[in-house]
Amino acid sequence: MAMAMADPSAELEKLREENASLRDQLRHHTLRELAAGGDGLRGSSGGDGGGGACPAAAWAAGGHGLSRDQVQRYSRQLLLPSFGVGAQERLCEGSVLIVGAGGLGSPVALYLAACGVGCLGIMDPDRVEVHNLHRQVIHTEASVGELKVASASRACLAINSSIKVVAYPFGLAAKNALEIIRQYDVVVDASDNVATRYLVSDACVVANRPLVSGAALGMEGQLTVYNYSNGPCYRCLFPTPPPQAACQRCSDAGVLGVVPGIVGTFQALEAIKILSKVGDPLSSRMLILDSMSSRIHTVKLRGKSAECVACGGSPAINHITLPNFDYEGFSSSPMSDAAPPRQQVVGKDQSITCRDYHKSVEGHKAHVLLDVRDQHQYIIASLPNSLNVPFDKLPEQLDTVRGAAKKHAPDGGENVPLYVICRRGNDSQQAVQVLRSAGFNSVYDITGGLQSWVQEVDPTFPDL
Ligand SMILES: [Zn+2]
Repeated sequence: MAMAMADPSAELEKLREENASLRDQLRHHTLRELAAGGDGLRGSSGGDGGGGACPAAAWAAGGHGLSRDQVQRYSRQLLLPSFGVGAQERLCEGSVLIVGAGGLGSPVALYLAACGVGCLGIMDPDRVEVHNLHRQVIHTEASVGELKVASASRACLAINSSIKVVAYPFGLAAKNALEIIRQYDVVVDASDNVATRYLVSDACVVANRPLVSGAALGMEGQLTVYNYSNGPCYRCLFPTPPPQAACQRCSDAGVLGVVPGIVGTFQALEAIKILSKVGDPLSSRMLILDSMSSRIHTVKLRGKSAECVACGGSPAINHITLPNFDYEGFSSSPMSDAAPPRQQVVGKDQSITCRDYHKSVEGHKAHVLLDVRDQHQYIIASLPNSLNVPFDKLPEQLDTVRGAAKKHAPDGGENVPLYVICRRGNDSQQAVQVLRSAGFNSVYDITGGLQSWVQEVDPTFPDL
């Protein structure tokens, strides 16, 4: 006799409902018993409350010091056999310093707060800006203009008011690094500049603290743990700073918001593993994320270097020399995650301010406006009647520029003024030099680029 097959999804739904109902009954039953001081939970005779007067004492911890609130809050990770009460206790007693409350620091702070790390230090000198929000998910629209550490601390305590959060509204500096880092068990580098990377690494070596280091750029990310379990430090791998640290282009690579989110979440995981002594932290290995192909792989890193000036046999960097080390000079990079300062390359006689250029446009004076940003940036927003020739392609497109100059010159010559603009005013100065050496005589840099245009002339133009 063939039996009719029950609809599996209907069966599953029925079982779910029964399960929810049983859970509900059990919860109410337990709460009623607790309220009555009964012995619904195990070990009611134990505890330190004496008798049944104190409901919270109506249970016994099996040799651990977690409170009832902590057991309830962290129950889903306590249930993990590989984690358990010992690991949770170590987290609750532990402390982590997070250097940077931006794209990487956001998930680090949120997850470490949520999972119960006892004390979080959050360090960042900057304020929340609207263009941060696509990746710095710890901040909200309401916190734009506020110090990032204030916004981040509030978010962490909103998730878990039982932890302690210390806010440092300034950047890590050679003078303060050792004193602050020594107060924490683990350090997470969530900064985004080369100078701070060297400083955090050196300070962690001198203070003997493990460092969870992460980076995200464009569509890619990477992370590793330095100075842990006899593994290398940052200087072991990069004894000299990358040359691009000194290179200040206007065309920043940009970053897809979720990429630092993923890397930061991995950083939180590594900090949890180190603090709780669970798992195998990423020492001497580097995890590399290629978000576009959804590939993650780990590569083995070189070991500790005997010649390393920080962690080698005879280190030049120690608690006396570190506070006086010039990290910005050494790395040719500012110790700030903000945009690098604009460099003045061309003279004032070859420059025009945004205000003066605007007056010239309003006076209908013949000219050519050359925008040397990459095409994909130009498409986002540009000034009217501009000609886009990307800086990298300028040498091969001089005829295009010459043609535009001829078209706009009242006398048919080439001497119509040529104004060059870019995002921040660095590439445009170099373009002026290229054009002048190619024979263009009246070429001028629009000082400060489109960022200055927003500030000086048109606040409705998008601040890129
Ligand atoms: Zn080293």
